[in-house]
Amino acid sequence: MADSVRDQLLRLSRQLGAPERDCAILGEGNVSAVIGAGAAFLVKASGTQLGLLEPGQLVECDAAMCRAYVDGPGLSDGAVDDALRDVKVDPSNDLRPSVETFMHAALLGLDGVSFVGHTHPTAVNALTCGEHFEKLTERVFPDQVVVCGPSSALVPYVDPGLPLARAVRDAAVEYQRRFDETPRTIYLKSHGFIALGASAEQVLQITDMAVKAARVLAGALAIGRPEFLSDKQVARIAGRGDEHYRQRVLAGAGGRTL
Ligand SMILES: [Zn+2]
Repeated sequence: MADSVRDQLLRLSRQLGAPERDCAILGEGNVSAVIGAGAAFLVKASGTQLGLLEPGQLVECDAAMCRAYVDGPGLSDGAVDDALRDVKVDPSNDLRPSVETFMHAALLGLDGVSFVGHTHPTAVNALTCGEHFEKLTERVFPDQVVVCGPSSALVPYVDPGLPLARAVRDAAVEYQRRFDETPRTIYLKSHGFIALGASAEQVLQITDMAVKAARVLAGALAIGRPEFLSDKQVARIAGRGDEHYRQRVLAGAGGRTL
């Protein structure tokens, strides 16, 4: 029998939090997935660890309620606490959903996105925390284009919670307008990384490739001047049918990809 969404999300959480990936330590990062027809989603509970997550530490939240908060007025810290209680489908659940629940709700509402993984990879943050942040929209090698898409959305530093949810939503919508597709990679200034996928496997692969690309870019910057793929080269790789096929096979889970 196919794994449930809860099982798939739990496995993704533990894989993203595995020490050898160096993507998150302690309470860093969070994951989410759409359940059923999309009216609700599962998100990691606040204060839990990605690498050690237990099935009961995924909290079910109401997607429309969360998105209404993202579209609504700014809230005080106390009001955000109340909102995080409000959006839980089961109010008797004592766990509080992650403070980034609103960001996950906004991203899971984008075309084709069923799973989201937010991490703080050391290799990626070497670039988000420095002057080369904007180079993360560039592409350095073809497999990065195949797995991570033709470019990335960038988000300036903002307060976690509702302000971050709004900034991430706006950056994703702007990317969709520019590239006519949903972004697979979003970089947060001085904070971290988000992978968006149609499956848990795709989120894991995007994260792994983004970490590798960050290492390659940092290495190229350390020893000289990086040379990026041209727009024409990126468009050629992004548009190749054989690469689309490879991407679908790689992502597994019925070949669903963004
Ligand atoms: Zn974070």
